[in-house]
Amino acid sequence: MSLDYHSLLLAVGFSAACLSLTLFGIWLTARTEKFLLTWAISALLIVGDVVIYKDYIETPGRILGVATFALLLVGFSTMLGAAYQFRSGLSPIPLTVLGSCISLALALPPMALGYDGLGFMFENLLAALLLFATAYQYWIGRTEAPVPIIGLTVLYSTTGISFVLCAMALAWDGKLVLGHAPSNWAEDLSLVVVIASMTGIGALSLALNQGRLARHHRLDALTDPLTGLLNRRALFDLNGGAPIGAFTAVVVFDLDRFKAINDEFGHATGDQVLKVFAEELVENLRPTDVAARMGGEEFALVLKRTLPETVEFIAERIRTAFAARVIATETRPLTCTVSAGYAFGSKDGISFDKVLSAADKALYAAKRGGRNRVAASTFRRAS
Ligand code: GH3
Ligand code: MG
Ligand code: MG
Repeated sequence: MSLDYHSLLLAVGFSAACLSLTLFGIWLTARTEKFLLTWAISALLIVGDVVIYKDYIETPGRILGVATFALLLVGFSTMLGAAYQFRSGLSPIPLTVLGSCISLALALPPMALGYDGLGFMFENLLAALLLFATAYQYWIGRTEAPVPIIGLTVLYSTTGISFVLCAMALAWDGKLVLGHAPSNWAEDLSLVVVIASMTGIGALSLALNQGRLARHHRLDALTDPLTGLLNRRALFDLNGGAPIGAFTAVVVFDLDRFKAINDEFGHATGDQVLKVFAEELVENLRPTDVAARMGGEEFALVLKRTLPETVEFIAERIRTAFAARVIATETRPLTCTVSAGYAFGSKDGISFDKVLSAADKALYAAKRGGRNRVAASTFRRAS
């Protein structure tokens, strides 16, 4: 069966147009995902290329030839920019411009000078290089979601290989001047590959973007926006499931007379103080320790594989470091202190809730004892 080249070309244009519209539509509902817009533009450039190329097939000429090369190469450079933008979150413009300039500088002159055969060879090779570079962008970022990203790498590379085959078929012919659009087995194969991979690339990329959004939402739901620490829910997610053993400690911190700071300096300064305390907390942690903001001016630490001396030492270090911080305000420099209470789990394991409330009791003992101090729970001795 011989393939109808025109229908295949039309199918490429049609699926690229659908992809572009879909991407543009999704971008309209999620404007922060700017790579969708870049990608929609790249698909639109490919549609433009298909339209012009159809005309070129019917009436080959230098101007149409140059236009079709330009649209394809700028389109693929933009696709490379979109992949870079997706991976790094940075602007796609430098890479898009670089890809476009290099590929246009190499492919356009032969076509403009009438060496269309050489021009098509270069165009195919450069398109392949841009596709391989796009595949490489995804490959670098594969740890984010290995299965869809490796799938994308394979699809972009396969498309790239089909363009290499087109260049090789032309080189095999060895004609520098063709006078018409290339027509050989590689061209037919390439169109089929492009149609198949465009569908796969569209589906995988959208799935990848959805997965990323879902991860962001989950992270947002577990993070305190003011301090960037975990929130209460996240701390319970991490520790609430299993009984707490004898070598795990929970420390609860509560800033002293924080209401007075808010009253005198205002809520914004209060927020600043909370951030400073979160910094001290993070700076004094060991890699295995977990810190969270429980709400208001209350924070908690979970220390695993630890002894009372270590907990006491870490909590004291945080307390003194925070007390030493001087925070500049519009009226006068301000300092603040913190009280802490800690408790351990037990040999047989007790619930995280119970350890937390034991640590809370110790905290209130520290408050009653005059604040700016660390108190141990009596819970273990009592039980
Ligand atoms: P104590 O030493 O007994 O802990 O006294 P305190 O004033 O720190 O305790 P209290 O519970 O009376 O006040 C806590 C204050 O924390 C009241 C509330 O307005 C303030 N607060 C809670 N969340 C925030 C926040 O996100 N930002 C700011 N700036 N203030 C907050
Ligand atoms: Mg409080
Ligand atoms: Mg307080």
